[in-house]
Amino acid sequence: MPTFKRIFDNGVDAGVTHLEVVEETPVGEEWHPSPRVIEKGFAEGWLAMGNGQAVIKTADGEDDHVYDILDTPGVFCSHCGLKLGGGNEIAQEHVATNHDGEDSPDEQNPAGYRQDNFFRLERVS
Ligand SMILES: [Zn+2]
Repeated sequence: MPTFKRIFDNGVDAGVTHLEVVEETPVGEEWHPSPRVIEKGFAEGWLAMGNGQAVIKTADGEDDHVYDILDTPGVFCSHCGLKLGGGNEIAQEHVATNHDGEDSPDEQNPAGYRQDNFFRLERVS
């Protein structure tokens, strides 16, 4: 999990210009920010998303941090990892149809599916 310090242009009320990276996520490792962090990044202007990537704006002259977006929040099958369209009903139907009679491989989610309330990002540069 990276740690960032928000840099304001002039005093606390004057808006964030970029992030100073205090502790970075090594390239190849994952970061799982909540939707709240992502929304804050958009609102404050230090985060951009597009073409399957998330870009964190760091100080001028420093390279931005680029992450591939592996998954967005949602419901996932614990058996096959498939992302299932929203709602428990669809997830239950998927498990019943595709994994009938199998025990869930995930003890924490005996129903065979789980809700992830975070983004799965992998740092690429
Ligand atoms: Zn499945």
